[in-house]
Amino acid sequence: MIPSVYEPERFSSPEYLAVLDDSQSPATLSLPASCIEAIQNQGEAGYPHEICGLLIGSITENGWMITEVRQVENLNTARAADRFELDPAAYQRIDRALRGTGHEIVGVYHSHPDAPAKPSPTDLGSAWEGFAYPIISICDGKVADLRCWSINESGDRFQQNAIVDAA
Ligand SMILES: [Zn+2]
Repeated sequence: MIPSVYEPERFSSPEYLAVLDDSQSPATLSLPASCIEAIQNQGEAGYPHEICGLLIGSITENGWMITEVRQVENLNTARAADRFELDPAAYQRIDRALRGTGHEIVGVYHSHPDAPAKPSPTDLGSAWEGFAYPIISICDGKVADLRCWSINESGDRFQQNAIVDAA
């Protein structure tokens, strides 16, 4: 049973709507079931705080092929309910360890406790072109939705990407 998704009022404000590009991106996120399960478990365990982590895999002609997800500490403890700040030292450590493996960091996922799986203006401000940004909605402590986003071609908004099972 999927719980209903809370949608705080700010998500229908002009500021929030302005970060969304309504056209669907042709790029897909290929995510194995084990990775989806890991993100779900981390999101529920971290509730009511935001959790975040890295997508590891490769860029393909269709989008992103993920082989592993790795949770990274959310350094923003002051506003952990609605902000995340990925630990840059952990990012660098993982990035270095991946050199020469054929795999790299290709995206960042995070949770939205009691909010929809839609990006916020803050998310847009910290997003990089070419990266995949899955957002998992955790409502009342349970997984409610999982969507993936990426920066559109004009570089000013998020476009949604289909999530496909890698298996
Ligand atoms: Zn967010």
